[in-house]
Amino acid sequence: MRLKDKVALITGGGSGIGRASALLFAQEGASIVVVDVDDAAGHETVRMVEAQGGQAMCVHADVSKGTDCKNMVMVAEQVYGRLNILFNNAGILDSHDDDAVNTEEEVWDLTMAVNLKGVFLGCKYGIPALRRAGGGSIINTASFVALLGAATPQVAYTASKGGVLALSRELATVHARENIRVNALCPGPLRTELLMKILDTPEKRRRRLVHIPMGRFGEAQEVAQAALYLASDDSSYVTGAAFVVDGGITGAYVTPE
Ligand code: NAD
Repeated sequence: MRLKDKVALITGGGSGIGRASALLFAQEGASIVVVDVDDAAGHETVRMVEAQGGQAMCVHADVSKGTDCKNMVMVAEQVYGRLNILFNNAGILDSHDDDAVNTEEEVWDLTMAVNLKGVFLGCKYGIPALRRAGGGSIINTASFVALLGAATPQVAYTASKGGVLALSRELATVHARENIRVNALCPGPLRTELLMKILDTPEKRRRRLVHIPMGRFGEAQEVAQAALYLASDDSSYVTGAAFVVDGGITGAYVTPE
């Protein structure tokens, strides 16, 4: 077991990457704190972890709120005694996110609050807990759009993920000698709720798929496997990385016919 006796807090644990990671981390021996704004989804993940014989609990938190983030970390320590892995994964992609001219300020502000401030707040309250545990691993979900621009714009989302990547590098450097590793996970387009509700026609999906060398969307499970590597001691010399899991997009210029 790669996470035996570890405690992992996963934000956005009610769906997609977060849920797949909760299930996988629990299989590897971790106790899971599932954090989500959607209580029903969070509880369903807990039920699924328990059904496979694992240990999990659910905490309601909106990651854009400091009091909620402080509380989720406090509950994790109270219930399981420590925090070893902090997976700041919750994120949103607003359907009205567009180019600079057409994106409303409200869309920009909300996207930044959840995707970027949410990661900052998770670290603000999570890092002291990791210190108390003698160190740990932080994984922040950025995106391949932190590395590449697209002509199908979503400027608030892209800027927020660029921020997550820069923030992760800096925190990795600051905390490197405290036995705290910080890495940014950069998934490509996934077949999860977040993207599929935006790519809601075959034509929109085709427009994306043409840029993916592997010719398909990724699965949450495939990103969870990468998160497991970053969470575990297998990645003991990896920090400050932009860990790309994208079906080859960022390596490609012209994709296969
Ligand atoms: P998802 O929509 O399936 O799951 C996201 C979860 O986060 C949901 O359960 C939702 O309720 C929760 N959430 C939303 N706002 C929250 C908040 N304020 N506080 C707490 N929880 C909140 O999405 P996913 O595809 O699993 O995405 C997870 C992460 O991966 C996000 O950060 C996303 O930006 C990133 N990502 C996704 C893709 C993709 O193609 N799906 C690609 C690259 C990066």
